Parts: sequence; structure tokens; C-alpha cells
Amino acid sequence: MKNSEVSKAVEEFYEWIESQEIDHTCTGCGDCCNFTEYDHLLFVTGVELTHFTEAIGTENIKPMQNGICPYMAGGKCTVYENRFAGCRIFQCKGSDEKQGEVMEKALRKFKDIGEKFGVDYSYMDLARGLAGLKSHDG
Ligand code: SF4
Ligand code: SF4
Repeated sequence: MKNSEVSKAVEEFYEWIESQEIDHTCTGCGDCCNFTEYDHLLFVTGVELTHFTEAIGTENIKPMQNGICPYMAGGKCTVYENRFAGCRIFQCKGSDEKQGEVMEKALRKFKDIGEKFGVDYSYMDLARGLAGLKSHDG
């Protein structure tokens, strides 16, 4: 029950992120989802990983391989509706200041969600987050 409540709170907050004016310049090319080539890291919070697992199912959690997001296929995000805050906020041609501002609010909100539902705050790069989920997979 707790996980589904955390998931719902995160999902609602993603809607707020979507409503923010973050220069929507992204063409969805997917280049930044290849973290090694793009020299980029995606950080996620523990409550987002809870939401992600609830949304796509534990059986669909995949480990990161070769520094490419495992949910990128043929240049498209296969978990678009459930992608993380960092995926929603990062715009390669956008204003760093605005992105920083929205990210700061997002981290505060995820912390609040964790506190509300008694989940310890955690923040890690996606590779480590997915590996942690896999190790808890039955
Ligand atoms: S943020 Fe930039 S690199 Fe990433 S998918 Fe959008 S256009 Fe491509
Ligand atoms: S979840 Fe989707 S948008 Fe985010 S890094 Fe992976 S493929 Fe890219």
C-alpha cells in the first residue's frame, strides 16, 4: 500500500514538472540517454525508483549496460510516461538556471514525499539505482 501511495505522489508531482516552462527545446533525439557517449549522468531519487517499479513492474527492471539507458530502444524512450524527473527537466539547449531551479524544487518535493511515507531519502545515478532494484528482485 505504501509503495502505491508513494508512486501516486511522485506521478502527481511529475505533472507539476511538465507544467513548468523549461524551454521545451528537446526534439527527443535520445542522444542524452546514451550517458557514456553524451558524457552525461542521470540522477534519480529513491521515491522515483519506487514509482518506476510500481509503474512498469519489477519484472521489467533492467540493469544499465554499456552506459546506455536500458529503456532507450531505436532512439525512443520506451518508458516515456514514467521517465524520471531528470529526463523531464534536462534540455540540452535550455537554460541551466531554470533547469536548476526546477530540479531544486523537485528534490525538495521528493524528500517531502519520502518523509510523508517514511522512506529514507536517497539520490543516486540511474545505473546504481537500477542495480539496487535488480538485487531486490525476488
Ligand atoms: S535533451 Fe537534447 S540530447 Fe537529450 S533527447 Fe532532447 S534534444 Fe536530444
Ligand atoms: S528513461 Fe527514457 S528519457 Fe530517461 S534516460 Fe531512459 S530512455 Fe532516456
